[in-house]
Amino acid sequence: MKISAYSLLALLLILPVTTFSSPNADPVPGGIVLLPLNNEQVASSARYKNKKLAIIQKNNARYLLVGLPLNSKPGKQSVTIKNKRGEKHQINFEIKPKTYKAQYLTIKNKRKVNPYAKDMDRILSEKKRKTQARKYWSANWVNANFTVPVDGRISSIFGLRRFFNNQARRPHSGLDIAAPEGTPIKAVESGTVIESGDFFFSGNMVYLDHGQGLISLYAHMNTINVKPGDKIDKGQILGTVGETGRVTGPHLHLAIIANQTLVDPLLFLPQLSDKANAYFNANK
Ligand SMILES: [Zn+2]
Repeated sequence: MKISAYSLLALLLILPVTTFSSPNADPVPGGIVLLPLNNEQVASSARYKNKKLAIIQKNNARYLLVGLPLNSKPGKQSVTIKNKRGEKHQINFEIKPKTYKAQYLTIKNKRKVNPYAKDMDRILSEKKRKTQARKYWSANWVNANFTVPVDGRISSIFGLRRFFNNQARRPHSGLDIAAPEGTPIKAVESGTVIESGDFFFSGNMVYLDHGQGLISLYAHMNTINVKPGDKIDKGQILGTVGETGRVTGPHLHLAIIANQTLVDPLLFLPQLSDKANAYFNANK
């Protein structure tokens, strides 16, 4: 069979490099929006509420990944795209309403719910470190085809309005996977460690940058095997499951940050849909 140079070229162009099926879009507070980009737009920079956005690949197309804050108001929104010539234009989208349930938890260590006055300096300095890590930006290409970090049961989901010992606190900012202490925690994607340490509320924690503001965070760890600056492969062991910080038992708290915004990790882990359904059925 004779294959012309043109048909060979056409064949090469349609061959997928890598096909990513995740993440799933969900245009609600705490969710994400994926806005398809044309060839010219891919070379542009884009912002939502003045925060830079990541460009990801999914099913061989390129998309702007927009993280929507949990306190977003439903309604019309837009991102601003700036092309190479500095010209700006808008892409519009709409945020749909979503109501999150309440969760009531009893914490035995009352100091983790009502810290002592002498804890406040530490809490404030850790808050600054968290904000810095959340703002981290690297120009690296983004892989968003996440693997499940811990084999376990989903014990809490993102967005729940939380009450610790009957006192209102911030909504749950991640996904909890319960597993025995010492269970290995795998990196959801390749990346670079940008922050790690022992935090008052989060316990032993690692921040992993995946490029362009897409960051994963692992909290309440027992041991940490990595340090800032380490280059990490997808699936590499970061440490082990523990119950450090403000917890009711051993679990991994996984949080995902896009454009400095905490978003629902389940959108990046469609493989967990059966376990998520089991959680929803048990918590109707
Ligand atoms: Zn959690």
